[in-house]
Amino acid sequence: YDDRDGFIWMDGKLVPWREANVHLLTHALHYASSVFEGERAYGGRIFKSREHSERLKTSANLIDFEIPYSVDEIEAAKAQVMQANGMTDAYVRALAWRGAGEDMGVASRRNPVRVAVAAWEWGAYYGDAKLKGAKLDISKWRRPDPATAPSQAKAAGLYMICTMSKHAAEAKGCSDAMMFDYRGYVAEATGANIFFVKDGQVHTPKPDCFLNGITRQTVIGMLKDRQIKVHERHIMPDELEGFQQCWLTGTAAEVTPVGQIGDYNFEVGTMAREMVDAYEKLVRA
Ligand code: PMP
Repeated sequence: YDDRDGFIWMDGKLVPWREANVHLLTHALHYASSVFEGERAYGGRIFKSREHSERLKTSANLIDFEIPYSVDEIEAAKAQVMQANGMTDAYVRALAWRGAGEDMGVASRRNPVRVAVAAWEWGAYYGDAKLKGAKLDISKWRRPDPATAPSQAKAAGLYMICTMSKHAAEAKGCSDAMMFDYRGYVAEATGANIFFVKDGQVHTPKPDCFLNGITRQTVIGMLKDRQIKVHERHIMPDELEGFQQCWLTGTAAEVTPVGQIGDYNFEVGTMAREMVDAYEKLVRA
């Protein structure tokens, strides 16, 4: 993936794709002092672009550093990357991290904060699951207590347990894993939020220890526009049995129906399908 044509924006300028490198002694590589965004452009426009740029800056603040660019400058960088690569439909990855410098210990006040934006083409995150319904494993890892980690930051360090969960899921033939939180409540998947339907009403975990996704908020708005009741609450594992439909939301995942979580089955029902279609329409509107 590193050996290809194209341009990546790094610290204020476009650099050829193959030259977008960092030094081995980058603080972020050793201590996870890094935050990022995942965004999607549809027909040349990044959906909720500004919200993503704002979240990037907030995530950095939550892990104690300041991005040396304004939201407007980040917006301009993203536009520049799309244009330089001649892209209209793409996944956009903005990244900010503590670079290499004098500080090689845990503290890193003197190292420069670096920022980059890359974009590439990325199709359906869960492949054909959008039609058939994804199969999810149940992870043995739990989303941490917000007193243990800055759970509202889209920070690299929080993804260590996600990668391990997803690898274990894939080894069992699943697309992803559903994670519980530190209290044992249903939380989310490794890179997407989760929704359930029971008797025409929607239930989704309260995002008090994981990312309140931009797609999650969008989909809640879409449901409310349709006068569908949405309950944001703590969901116990034994409730899974009573839910009829389930779907995941995320920038990469968009809206993807879920057919199975562990031993629990869900139908890819009308409401799930309607959310898939309505979201696809909305992002291109
Ligand atoms: N949870 C996790 C762990 C994620 O990585 C993502 C993707 N950013 C989400 C939820 C969904 O967030 P969004 O809808 O803002 O993409």
